[in-house]
Amino acid sequence: AVHSSWLEVSASALRHNVAVFRALEGQQGATPRALGVVLKGNAYGHGLAQVLPAVHGAVDLLYVIAPQDALKVREYERAQGLSPRQVLVLGAVAPEEAVVLAREGVDVVVADRGWADAVPVLRAAKLERPLRAHVHIDTGLGREGFTLEGLPTESRFLVEARDVLEVVGALSHFANTEDVTEQGYALAQVEAFEKGLAFLASQLEPAQPLQRHIAASAATLVLPRARYEALRVGISLYGLWPSAETRLSARLVLGEVPVLKPALSWRCRSQVVKWLPAGSYVGYGCTYRCPEPTRIAVLPVGYYDGYPRLASGQAHVLVNGRRCPVLGRVMMNHLIVDVTRATSDERPVTATLLGRDGEEAVPAESLAGWAQTIHYEVVTRLGAHLKRVVV
Ligand code: PLP
Repeated sequence: AVHSSWLEVSASALRHNVAVFRALEGQQGATPRALGVVLKGNAYGHGLAQVLPAVHGAVDLLYVIAPQDALKVREYERAQGLSPRQVLVLGAVAPEEAVVLAREGVDVVVADRGWADAVPVLRAAKLERPLRAHVHIDTGLGREGFTLEGLPTESRFLVEARDVLEVVGALSHFANTEDVTEQGYALAQVEAFEKGLAFLASQLEPAQPLQRHIAASAATLVLPRARYEALRVGISLYGLWPSAETRLSARLVLGEVPVLKPALSWRCRSQVVKWLPAGSYVGYGCTYRCPEPTRIAVLPVGYYDGYPRLASGQAHVLVNGRRCPVLGRVMMNHLIVDVTRATSDERPVTATLLGRDGEEAVPAESLAGWAQTIHYEVVTRLGAHLKRVVV
């Protein structure tokens, strides 16, 4: 096979998760809310090109990190003859890129006064319509956005820039909705957000009420008060819970825990299957010694592909629905696994590194735990070079 390792992205799982979030909106009554999917990090490692067709028709809003990703969305829509969806670039935008985004009808986030530099460039471009902007208010993450203290002076340029920068929305991002079941800090952020919104409304007197968004997956699930007009759901539209704590809170807040379906599986074909005699060492550093004759499979996957080296000595993969321990150290392009009990001969095997195989599954959370990191990092670090197929 040309591709010895590949990712499978389940379109039906993605759509199931979208339906879960649509149902949540229903619980909140009649407010039509925009359900947005976050496509950062190559769609959380699932592949922008693979995820886009599966979700484009099902969500209202697409959040990307970089201008070129927004342009990929517009290209896809043109190629398919689809009407353009609301697309919002969350990350930094250079003035020349802002011109292109304005022409493509893509929304941007104005998070600092550096945006004042884009104003003359936008004017010189003689746009047919202004660039649509969302003002980012830093309510306590300490990342991008105007602080409440800085907002009055630093965002003043927007008042004079209406001809080219039309403020249509406002956003903020939570610092601590995942790691805790107690939402005091999040509620303080909501209050700060409201203060910022009141200021923007008075200063800018927007023609339309602003589209407000602060809730990512966790807040959407467990802090209904923070849902506002648009939801910015990342990890959970891919079928993963933000954290165990969010799952616990969901039971309390929603009464039942929605079923999310992980959309991603990572599989590979073995390079070789062979016996090693008892006493053989396996891998760099001779950290593993076979206590008995061991049938090993050498898998053509390693830390280059995004399999964390820190998982060495902890991890297992699945072969024929059985757990097979990873022996010794994870290498750049190889993993060695014990398949003694998973197969009865030396023919090539298919291993599941992430996802389900029969009764067993390796959730991204497990691989993250073995590697002392979070599942967000595991999925977004899956190599861009890996073949991704929609199943
Ligand atoms: N909004 C912003 C600004 C983000 O940076 C992120 C992800 O880091 C999200 C939304 C989505 O978060 P989650 O994946 O927890 O839903």
